[in-house]
Amino acid sequence: MSGVESVEHDVVIVGSGIAGLRAAVEIKRVYGEKVSVGVISKVQLMRSHSVAAEGGTAAVLYREEGDSFSLHAWDTVKGSDFLADQDVVWLMVKLAPEEMRLLEHWGIPWSRRPDGRIAQRAFGGHSFNRALYAADKTGFYEMQTLYNKLLEYDGWERYDEWFVTNINIEEGEFRGLYALNPRDGNIYLFKAKAAIIATGGAGRIYNFTTYSHSVTGDGLAMAFRAGLPLKDMEFVQFHPTGLVPSGILISEAARGEGGYLLNSKGERFMARYAPQRMELAPRDIVSRAMMTEIMEGRGFKDPVSGLEYVLLDLRHLGEDKINEKLPAIREIALKHAGIDPVEEPIPVRPVAHYTMGGIHTDTYYRALDVEGRWIKGLFVAGEAAAASIHGANRLGSNSTTECLVSGRIAGMLAAEYALRVKEARGPSRERSLAEEDWVYKLVRRESGTPSYQIRRELQETMDTRFYVFREGDSMRGGALKIIKLREAMRREGYVEDKSRVYNTDLILAIETLNMLDVALVVTKSAIARTESRGAHYRFDYPRRDDSSWLKHTLAIRYGEDDVSLSYEPVRITTWKPTERKY
Ligand SMILES: Cc1cc2nc3c(=O)[nH]c(=O)nc-3n(C[C@H](O)[C@H](O)[C@H](O)COP(=O)(O)OP(=O)(O)OC[C@H]3O[C@@H](n4cnc5c(N)ncnc54)[C@H](O)[C@@H]3O)c2cc1C
Repeated sequence: MSGVESVEHDVVIVGSGIAGLRAAVEIKRVYGEKVSVGVISKVQLMRSHSVAAEGGTAAVLYREEGDSFSLHAWDTVKGSDFLADQDVVWLMVKLAPEEMRLLEHWGIPWSRRPDGRIAQRAFGGHSFNRALYAADKTGFYEMQTLYNKLLEYDGWERYDEWFVTNINIEEGEFRGLYALNPRDGNIYLFKAKAAIIATGGAGRIYNFTTYSHSVTGDGLAMAFRAGLPLKDMEFVQFHPTGLVPSGILISEAARGEGGYLLNSKGERFMARYAPQRMELAPRDIVSRAMMTEIMEGRGFKDPVSGLEYVLLDLRHLGEDKINEKLPAIREIALKHAGIDPVEEPIPVRPVAHYTMGGIHTDTYYRALDVEGRWIKGLFVAGEAAAASIHGANRLGSNSTTECLVSGRIAGMLAAEYALRVKEARGPSRERSLAEEDWVYKLVRRESGTPSYQIRRELQETMDTRFYVFREGDSMRGGALKIIKLREAMRREGYVEDKSRVYNTDLILAIETLNMLDVALVVTKSAIARTESRGAHYRFDYPRRDDSSWLKHTLAIRYGEDDVSLSYEPVRITTWKPTERKY
């Protein structure tokens, strides 16, 4: 092995989803060629998971019609089951409208009202129709718009399909990161004055999920390995309407446009659980209602997969409206379930959809250590960050908003920092060689268990023991299983493909190690939280307990196999917690 070559930029961005691209655009449009930028993505830049975002992006546009910053902030805080940090929520809500206008100027084809003004649709938990949308392909158009904008500038490089393996932190400072270039199989050191981690969530630790296969929590696992705290990882969002049996998302826009949920008796059962908001209650509430119906025998069962479900009925919307507002939903239902929603209801059940937790940051998306000190030069944006806006339950359409706002903030601060710092400091040569060793140890092993087998067992454990309803003994059993799988992967994880070029088998193995690290944190954080709040609902502790648990979980690595938990107060600036009714 020849040793590690290095690449240098002022700012390196890991991730080219909405958050990563927005950060890159901000740096370029404000600082031009004064700041060189590298954008790394393990998939082709435009194949980042964000292109899958369907339904919309929340922002206050029409105050004259009754919406307000205060209403958006309140909806978000109430939706979070009061675990959101309210100062960050206010910041996002106030910056969001400008982001929408910028996208408009950069060419996004927002859907329109008949009078030509930008249209907005209903989303769960929002008390005003405030989700801007581009049909039901919002994420795709946002990505395309940001990418087109970025192409106007020079002084940035893209590293498509490069796989970042670890970030390096020394003396409380970012000191470069490592990436595997699949074209030559070598590990490269990226030296930079500042880095932005925009690697998205970790939904693929579940099997029944809406996430792209690439969303394996790599950034979170790297932060964890580097000794940074992961915040509130017990809170995983289950979106009510995952298509059965694939788990592909049927966007909340379908209910926003008027779709109903029905049980096997033909009842709109949400009347029993959220009489005012009905199908447009927040996702945690709708998902629990669906699972209660199923568990009490009012669901259906798919004969092939064995998955139980209820129905989403769009028939009353009519073909024209479905074609105009929900074309992708019709196509998805037809292609993946053989069902035309114009004629038949769609089988759906709750599906893993969003990682509320993430890398611990302050209000301005600066990565923090467990003492709350900024890791100099390191920023986080988008779903990878826990700033925390979504608390225990995210409202639909607020994620892409956060991606845009956090990308902008992180981009601006990273560029300013890079301009202040004289040179990028890297790690020692020994550290770099150790990284190569860490990666290629997996390839050198002669026999063992293929990572896909371990990954499958992990996903089964998460699907069954850390789903919509949880319980202590079952979770403890799940945690033991994950510890064993983690040991097995480290001891005998086997990469069959021994080649250096485009060794995707090796990448699958590293992803599996990452998923196991993240799952360990989810399980330990979930077991410790002995209350029910937002998406974390426990049969053995069915009540929210503000006196003991109105606090954020911070999980850091402890030795090889354990996690040490500490807690931090929620920042409450405006609203004290109350009972959540919809
Ligand atoms: C099907 C679906 C529909 C959704 N619809 C909506 C919606 O309508 N509205 C809304 O607000 N939210 C929606 N969401 C949520 C939203 O799409 C995501 O939270 C958001 O797109 C995340 O964007 P991101 O930029 O943080 O990360 P991502 O878009 O996930 O991008 C992550 C990037 O990191 C890169 N990366 C990751 N690991 C590595 C590594 N090891 N090395 C190199 N690169 C790496 C990836 O290649 C990628 O470029 C939806 C989610 C799903 C699953």
